[in-house]
Amino acid sequence: MTTNDTTATPEFPAGTVLGYPRIGPRRELKRAIEAFWAGRSDAAEVEAVAADLRRRTRARLAELGLRTDVPAIPSAFSFYDQVLDATALLGAVPARFADLADADGRLDLAGYSTVARGRGEDLPLEMTKWFDTNYHYLVPEIGPETEFRYASDRPVREFAEGLADGVLTRPVIVGPVTYLALAKATEGSPEGFSPIDRLADVLPVYATLLRELRAAGATWVQLDEPALVSDSVDVPTERLHAAVAEAYRALATQIPADERPAILVAAPYGDLDEALPLLAATDVDGIALDLVRGGLPAEDVPGLAGKVVVGGVIDGHNVWRADLGAALDRLEALRAAVGPEATIAAGTSTSLFHVPHDVEDEPALDPTLRSWLAFADQKVTEIATLATGLTEGGLAVKDQILAADAALATRRNAPGVVRPEVRERVAALDEDAFRRGDFADRKAAQADRLQLPPLPTTTIGSFPQTPDIRKARAAHDRGELSTEQYEEEMRAEIRRVVELQESIGLDVLVHGEPERNDMVQYFAENLDGFAVTQNGWVQSYGSRCTRPSILWGDVSRPAPITVGWTQYTQSLTSKPVKGMLTGPVTILAWSFVRDDQPLGDTANQVALALRDEIADLESAGIAIVQVDEPALRELLPLRAADHAAYLDWSVRSFRLATSGVRPDTQIHTHLCYSEFGEVIGAIDGLDADVTSIEAARSKMEILADIADAGYPRAVGPGVYDIHSPRVPGEAEVTELLEAAVKSIAVDQLWVNPDCGLKTRRYAEVTPSLESILAATRTVRATL
Ligand code: GLN
Ligand code: ZN
Repeated sequence: MTTNDTTATPEFPAGTVLGYPRIGPRRELKRAIEAFWAGRSDAAEVEAVAADLRRRTRARLAELGLRTDVPAIPSAFSFYDQVLDATALLGAVPARFADLADADGRLDLAGYSTVARGRGEDLPLEMTKWFDTNYHYLVPEIGPETEFRYASDRPVREFAEGLADGVLTRPVIVGPVTYLALAKATEGSPEGFSPIDRLADVLPVYATLLRELRAAGATWVQLDEPALVSDSVDVPTERLHAAVAEAYRALATQIPADERPAILVAAPYGDLDEALPLLAATDVDGIALDLVRGGLPAEDVPGLAGKVVVGGVIDGHNVWRADLGAALDRLEALRAAVGPEATIAAGTSTSLFHVPHDVEDEPALDPTLRSWLAFADQKVTEIATLATGLTEGGLAVKDQILAADAALATRRNAPGVVRPEVRERVAALDEDAFRRGDFADRKAAQADRLQLPPLPTTTIGSFPQTPDIRKARAAHDRGELSTEQYEEEMRAEIRRVVELQESIGLDVLVHGEPERNDMVQYFAENLDGFAVTQNGWVQSYGSRCTRPSILWGDVSRPAPITVGWTQYTQSLTSKPVKGMLTGPVTILAWSFVRDDQPLGDTANQVALALRDEIADLESAGIAIVQVDEPALRELLPLRAADHAAYLDWSVRSFRLATSGVRPDTQIHTHLCYSEFGEVIGAIDGLDADVTSIEAARSKMEILADIADAGYPRAVGPGVYDIHSPRVPGEAEVTELLEAAVKSIAVDQLWVNPDCGLKTRRYAEVTPSLESILAATRTVRATL
């Protein structure tokens, strides 16, 4: 065995960030790549926009205080997704897309996009949540036969591009263990096969990449291994640990140190726990710890003192200005734990791509609130300050520490942060506020009232947000369209959506959500305690971005929010109209949430506001209310030990919101993901009468879990994958429904798409819904 002890580790900066937003301050990348997909530009134009964005990012990070002569600035760009990038790197293109790759397994930008988005009958890679964030990655498909080869030199080219600009960057790649842990086995893989079985075959490709990076001049590389902080990946812990040892023996020990960059393994989103001593025992040169979510390492972990240890003390996942004094103390405590000789650096807990670019880009935000916030650029400044504090001592940055203290003090005492009347209402709740009556009674009362056919059809809520809707909203926001005119345009849209649903033949109608810019922001704009941003976009998946609101104070509902729209819609049709709300957990998950009280307390405040809204809908004659909780699974803690406490407060907040209604009012909920089995207990706890879930891509696998668990209430497994522009054929939907009625009782089954339709176009939505209705009629006839 070679050890690298004789070679000095290349210099590592005292401050760094694990990653930075990729989409651009004005979503430049989104615009460029969507124009390319629409055929309005060519690959060279997109590449030019991307190169310009990367150049501006490097310049900005340098201007904010990151060093350019040592690798403080990450090279972490992606056209779509970092996991898809790793798939492209490894040449692991699924067989159905094999024709898109050239003889060397390389994908061009068009091919790469097709793997992400699908074409015709070829489904795209499945998309799923990235750890406990609202970012979605594309799931690799790996089988015993998948061939791996070094098929993309993008990381090398992007590194060289930085160097040519005078910036020594640190390339960031998804690490081999996490890549395989997140992959799923290709269809038809033998029983017992797991993608992690292929570790030995992907390592040579990573080794080639490391050698190429070194040849190009890279001194450090960052391999992201968040799988190591999670119990939720599909690989048993022991197997994962063995994989860590194997992977980093191959990459760190077996490649001589002068033939590769130094390796930083980053472990964002949580605590490494037992994986830390394992990693420390390998020859990797550095480890980045998440000290926001995770704890300090135990003292004297063997091997750790010889490495660079990046203390992730600046929260990459939330927008609050840091307590710099406390952060510096924590870095000193880290130094003490690792050993006084250790090389400690200040870092972010995660990549900064979960937060927007720049608070200074929010002129409309209240200046006091703005002074409490740190977006990506402000966090980079905080890192630069901490780096100075680490190298020159706390006194050198005492002004910055005092300024942070002052901001925190105003935040604690500002009006609206604590409102006694809100606190008192939550404190006075008794257990009855969290409970509905017996489900059997509800089921009978609802059947009586609603008179629905078997396999009732509905949608998840939103219909396409057309250019006209967006134009009207923008004009209204600019003050060019009066509120009256705007509302009339929205009512006209609702009329069209109702007519369309009636002509297609859906059973439970929706108003289509045209008035909502976003399912969370809309409520945030109408509740007290929230602020919204103008430019605070963060990437959700591919080119899609969301603009999370900022929940900064105690929450209450000043006036009804959705009642008028829903009532209007119901006045247009004799079919039942479903009222549409976003649940407390999702409102929290997709906002930046205050960090000064337990999440459960904040959730109950939101739940009470929704409870009042549901009561008003019920009084207005609405018989069905859907409370969407697509983020319930997303916030599930990564460590199994933390699940019970989370599920307790999250489920209770949903029940608090929904259990004030009569037995004959039907409560629906919608959950976006398909890992139903994992949280079936919690879904049971929600006690919703009908639960719709994503199921099209997984071909309704989840129904087996539902049946096995003896779940008593109704479910609507999605039969149309709305994440892709593909239109499902009638036969395909019929097949899904036939499978469904075999695995679950007919009176438990609803028919609906996977999710809302807002991101799709009518040209896709109308024929898709027609397929669904035709298939439903066919299957109904067989019952
Ligand atoms: N009601 C929402 C919609 O249809 C639900 C979206 C979601 O689950 N993400 O758009
Ligand atoms: Zn959904």
